[in-house]
Amino acid sequence: MIQKERTLSIIKPDAVSKGIIGAIISRFESSGLLIVSAKMLQLTTDQVLEFYNEHKNKFFFKDLMEFMISGPIFVQILEGNYAIRRNREIMGNTDPMKALAGTIRFDYGESCTKNVIHGSDSESSAKYEIAYFFDI
Ligand code: AMP
Repeated sequence: MIQKERTLSIIKPDAVSKGIIGAIISRFESSGLLIVSAKMLQLTTDQVLEFYNEHKNKFFFKDLMEFMISGPIFVQILEGNYAIRRNREIMGNTDPMKALAGTIRFDYGESCTKNVIHGSDSESSAKYEIAYFFDI
């Protein structure tokens, strides 16, 4: 049976400052993922710590923190068949150098830190991350 899912997507500060929110959203919509809610906001250090808690002891956390608070982000709930997996396919590998051609990170990413976009990686993280940013 086809599984309709919701997932959380974050367009990160690098993409917002480059003016490519529209280009990224077009990719979701043309792939059958609907944006069912969206907002722009600026994260605080406490929010980054909470949201990326699993990474707080990793070597890249300082860079991730500085980057994620460096400017506004655009957060969305995407909905569609197998939305969690589909969104991750469209995004591409965390490391833009390893991402497949035609993915968002291949086209727009600069590094593992400046990698344009975040997407939930499982049903449980989608649930947590959606509830973190939205009341629906
Ligand atoms: P993830 O929870 O896997 O989406 O990772 C969250 C974010 O942490 C990624 O989107 C990157 O911005 C950052 N990140 C993950 N792995 C690395 C890494 N090896 N080097 C630098 N940043 C990383």
